[in-house]
Amino acid sequence: MKSNLPSFVIDIIQKFQKANLEIYIVGGAVRDLLTKREVKDWDLTTNATPEKILELFPHAFYDNKFGTVGIPLTQEPKNPIAKQPIIEVTTFRSEEAYSDRRHPDKVIWGKTLAEDLTRRDFTINSIALSPITHNSEPITIIDPFHGQKDLKNKIIRAVGNPQERFSEDSLRMMRAVRIAAELGFTIEEKTFQAIKNNVPLIHKISAERIRDELFKLLASSFPYEGVVMLRTTGLMAEILPEVEKGFGVPQKSPGRHHVVDVGTHLLYSLRYCPSKDSLVRLAALLHDVGKPQTFRKDSKTELITFYNHEVVGGHIVKTIADRLKLSNKDKDKLFLLVRWHLFTVDERQTDSAIKRFIRNVGPENLLDILAVRTGDRLGGGATETSWRLDLFKKRLIEVQKQPFSIKDLKINGNDVMRELKIPSGPQVGKILNQLFAEVDSGALKNTKEELMKSVKELI
Ligand code: ATP
Ligand code: MG
Repeated sequence: MKSNLPSFVIDIIQKFQKANLEIYIVGGAVRDLLTKREVKDWDLTTNATPEKILELFPHAFYDNKFGTVGIPLTQEPKNPIAKQPIIEVTTFRSEEAYSDRRHPDKVIWGKTLAEDLTRRDFTINSIALSPITHNSEPITIIDPFHGQKDLKNKIIRAVGNPQERFSEDSLRMMRAVRIAAELGFTIEEKTFQAIKNNVPLIHKISAERIRDELFKLLASSFPYEGVVMLRTTGLMAEILPEVEKGFGVPQKSPGRHHVVDVGTHLLYSLRYCPSKDSLVRLAALLHDVGKPQTFRKDSKTELITFYNHEVVGGHIVKTIADRLKLSNKDKDKLFLLVRWHLFTVDERQTDSAIKRFIRNVGPENLLDILAVRTGDRLGGGATETSWRLDLFKKRLIEVQKQPFSIKDLKINGNDVMRELKIPSGPQVGKILNQLFAEVDSGALKNTKEELMKSVKELI
């Protein structure tokens, strides 16, 4: 394999090598290089201790929670939170007992690369590239667990005994599914069974880490396949039991278009949601999560209804957002997308009704709620678009040109006071509100001239 590495990586590697230290590229970077994807972040491993690495790179920082040294590409700022490309270097580790299923009881530095690769999670993540002494020199691939073969066959396989590997660190279960979704891989049978057997251990992992893996899965190239894997492994029932509850809840009523159950519809909605944003995709996956609780079947007509499911769903997604420790901003948006997903698309709707909808959802979320609607429609077997939806989209744009509140009127309180020779006070607000109501209903044009004429008539 020819080296085709960016110069900043080569520089760092050479610095290690000049100091007579071992250094290898590992992890996701190798996966990306071997599958010819763009490398997102660079993971390196070395026999140097963190202290030694910090001596070589004084501007690096040490995160002792994960035993990782981050080397920023620029000298400034010396801030691990700053968004800039970072190279993460870990010292060789050896295997040690895991008690809390996340962190080794104590980190024992390993002596060899072989030892370090053994404690890594999957065969495709246990490949090392070495050594690069010059840009044009060939790279050696160290691949003791035949990760390249699994990469070729698109398989996620645990290193060593899968049962043990998942029970010592249950985050690996989420990582298996997430990486499979990113790469479009399948999980090897024994590895898959071991996840199934260890699923309840997922609760040993912090909500933040589960959330991060879930969001990476949703942002991946195969979010639908990923969510299906969450379900078949049993992880879905643990981390999103509200979605799991939808399976087996029928929706098929005489004369209605829904044919699949609620759970399947949610998965399909995610599959067809055109947005690439993980939060919008999550909203598509959750939009009907209020249905199991609101399911009613009329014994005579056999008609199935889910009255108020969007309100119930709104409450449910708030509890999900809290449980998964979403930011307040994400929680609010998820709520809005679920709470208002049932918006009416009808040409007989008044402009005021459309404005109310825009106010409820927020103008900044319109495209996203339309993406949820597209997923919902296609996931329910309808065609991509209808003339009604197209017309509605046009009206959303048109209506937004109209005033939304008295602040958008072309005259203000001062104009009213001057014209009517009245002092400031509640009467001014009342007049403006009255004018706004007329503009809102379409009876009055929002121009200074028309509004002033109207004010005069009020005397
Ligand atoms: P990405 O960077 O896309 O999240 P990655 O596989 O590089 O994927 P990192 O968290 O950067 O993930 O970890 C780098 C490498 O460290 C992994 O490829 C793997 O070899 C090892 N690793 C990470 N997490 C674990 C874990 N929980 N158990 C064992 N090895 C792990
Ligand atoms: Mg990585």
